[in-house]
Amino acid sequence: MPKVFNWQLGREMDYPYEQALPEKQIGMVFDTNKCIACQTCSMACKMTWTSGRGQEYMFWNNVESKPYGTYPTAWDVAILEKLGPQTWEDGVYTGKTIFEAADGLKEKMLGILPDDADWAHPNIGEDQIAGGSVAQGEHLNEPIHKFWYFYLPRICNHCSYPACLAACPRKAIYKRQEDGIVLIDQSRCRGYRECVKGCPYGKSMFRPNHETSEKCVACYPKVEKGLQTQCVEQCIGKIRGQGWISLGDKVREDHPIDYLVRVRKMAFPLYPQLGLSPNVYYIPPIHVPADYLEQMFGPGVKEAQEAYKNAPNDETLRGLLVLFGSSPEIMERFEVKNGVARGYNRENKMVAEVPITEPLTLREAKDIRLDVYRMDVT
Ligand code: SF4
Ligand code: SF4
Repeated sequence: MPKVFNWQLGREMDYPYEQALPEKQIGMVFDTNKCIACQTCSMACKMTWTSGRGQEYMFWNNVESKPYGTYPTAWDVAILEKLGPQTWEDGVYTGKTIFEAADGLKEKMLGILPDDADWAHPNIGEDQIAGGSVAQGEHLNEPIHKFWYFYLPRICNHCSYPACLAACPRKAIYKRQEDGIVLIDQSRCRGYRECVKGCPYGKSMFRPNHETSEKCVACYPKVEKGLQTQCVEQCIGKIRGQGWISLGDKVREDHPIDYLVRVRKMAFPLYPQLGLSPNVYYIPPIHVPADYLEQMFGPGVKEAQEAYKNAPNDETLRGLLVLFGSSPEIMERFEVKNGVARGYNRENKMVAEVPITEPLTLREAKDIRLDVYRMDVT
């Protein structure tokens, strides 16, 4: 197998195709500390892309409660168990990826093919806590909780080394040069479901009435116009930022995604040890034990949790986080000055201007004009 460089692993790895990085790579950051599992993202996606016959079970965007939530059922436990020991040394992954652990003759990568029942319970494990059962009188304690769960919103990661693409015997899956979005050519697909088995994230899905596979298309018609995807734009919790991620050595400090992922190292790929170099990045939750999060996001979680907790004293970080969800346009540059965060689109036009601290207005309790007393004076 050819060797490619996977920056998330800190080393080269085997991949069935030669390295061919796109001109630009779509990237997103999800702040798990702010997600409330309202599922608005899931519904925005479903209404846009998967409301047809044969797509009833599909959630290209889903939100699962960790540690027990999974869609399809047990997707992560199944592939991680198959993969075996996953070890890191000084930030370099020393275990095997799903490409390296495969025998190479019968299969190009380790894979799992979920069955119908696995797709039938998108909310399994919702709000189920880890840490045992809560006895009467017990309560949550700061800063790391004994009892915990958190919400993990998931879409296709538009991976740099997609397993779905590598698995397809028809070469029906391609990664676009202009933005790194991974798509399935419906006219070439014959529904062999090799991509469904190959994607360890469970993000390629079979549509029985068309006998083809389908997956998240990253709302490419919007992205081409400089607009954010439906799940990013509609997010109630404003947890999502969308833009481009630099994959080489050159990193842009003024770019929202580069800043959080590459400069501050506060947002992490999901299960980087699988070896796909996924491009959705997560700011880890600050109340969850770091050892659990490190097997999920790789090394560096503790430092990121500390940096996030320090956000009230960190104007640039706070400013960037308040820009999330403040414009329907993709922000390609940001700046934070004098207590105000500004975001700029691809034409370098300002599309968002947000004060870091919302002004507070105190009103008189008595409203003379209406002759009433206000309950809320702020
Ligand atoms: S819309 Fe945003 S806050 Fe609501 S579930 Fe989705 S990611 Fe979480
Ligand atoms: S997450 Fe799965 S479906 Fe999406 S690009 Fe990666 S391998 Fe393919």
